[in-house]
Amino acid sequence: LDALEMRMSQPEALCAQFMKNRELPAQTVDSVRLPLHANIGLDSDIGLARNSEAEGVGLYRTEYQFLLRDAFPVEDEQYQSYRQLLEDFTPKPVTIRTLDVGGDKILSYFPLKEDNPFLGVRGIRFSLAHPEIFMIQLRALLRASAGLENLQALFPMVAKVSELDAALELLARAHRELMEEGQATAKPKVGLMIEVPSAVFLTKALAARVDYLSVGTKDLAQYILAADRTNARVTTPDDTLHPAVLNAIDMIVRDAHAHAQSTPVSVCGEMAGDPAGALVLLGMGADALSMSPASFGRVKLVIRAFTSKRARALADEALEQEDERQVRGLLNDALEGAGMLKHWPRVEDRAGSDASAFAE
Ligand code: PEP
Ligand code: MG
Repeated sequence: LDALEMRMSQPEALCAQFMKNRELPAQTVDSVRLPLHANIGLDSDIGLARNSEAEGVGLYRTEYQFLLRDAFPVEDEQYQSYRQLLEDFTPKPVTIRTLDVGGDKILSYFPLKEDNPFLGVRGIRFSLAHPEIFMIQLRALLRASAGLENLQALFPMVAKVSELDAALELLARAHRELMEEGQATAKPKVGLMIEVPSAVFLTKALAARVDYLSVGTKDLAQYILAADRTNARVTTPDDTLHPAVLNAIDMIVRDAHAHAQSTPVSVCGEMAGDPAGALVLLGMGADALSMSPASFGRVKLVIRAFTSKRARALADEALEQEDERQVRGLLNDALEGAGMLKHWPRVEDRAGSDASAFAE
């Protein structure tokens, strides 16, 4: 598709270009690869992701399995669904996040009474406060990955190094237990989500303990800007482009890469599927992007239209701005200058934004 056709912004022309790009890698003009992974929540997302150009699953939100029922799933049920998912995508990597409840995702059969649930017992705090529940999930994950090499376990909402250490210790304990029982088990890759401001400042210590990091831009923006992600009166889709959020992500990538083994950084929040967001993340040196499969076409188009050098220059400029509208303007102008649409319709990361509806 040439620049003129793109400016015409014909949906048919865009579709044709998306189809043409399907077989081509998400690679910049100067040959920097940026793998695109799928975010998955509901079972119905799995087929969509499998039929897409996803190079793996960057975020499987296990809480749906827990939210859509009236009791905790037992170990075998969890094992079955994780095993199926890992087999469906093997040998591609599958990132399975441990239970991320609390905040707006409340289990009907395990209610938590808190005045401030977004600052309460959520994510890894919930799992560490209820090790009997956490151990079942860890055992199911380890059993599911036996003989397959594609599981990447992921811990959500880590705020302290001690929380990561405790989670890693429980993972090691689950592995020991299974070995002692003579059950098939494996040692998967392990990562954590950086989505709490404290974790940004701890990136070096956290990165040194794991195989990869994953940035949750929705929660990171929520906690940096003190703006409830579910409250449209205080939040906008551009919050993830706020310079304060961008500077945090830039720091995460730099610190993770400065570590001796250069820990890779994936971005799995909604920002990764926004063409402007993807462009600035490319510039900051993210190693992979994970999004709703509906966003692959547009993001690949962006990545294939820029050099990594130009994206870095744009990111540097974005980091110097004072508010998110300036950043949005800068990036949209750059997209337009590269022959692309200036304004793209928003694609929701459905699996992330619908959570509260499912919890009700
Ligand atoms: C995020 O916070 O950006 C994220 C990817 O996790 P979730 O949307 O599931 O909270
Ligand atoms: Mg999150």
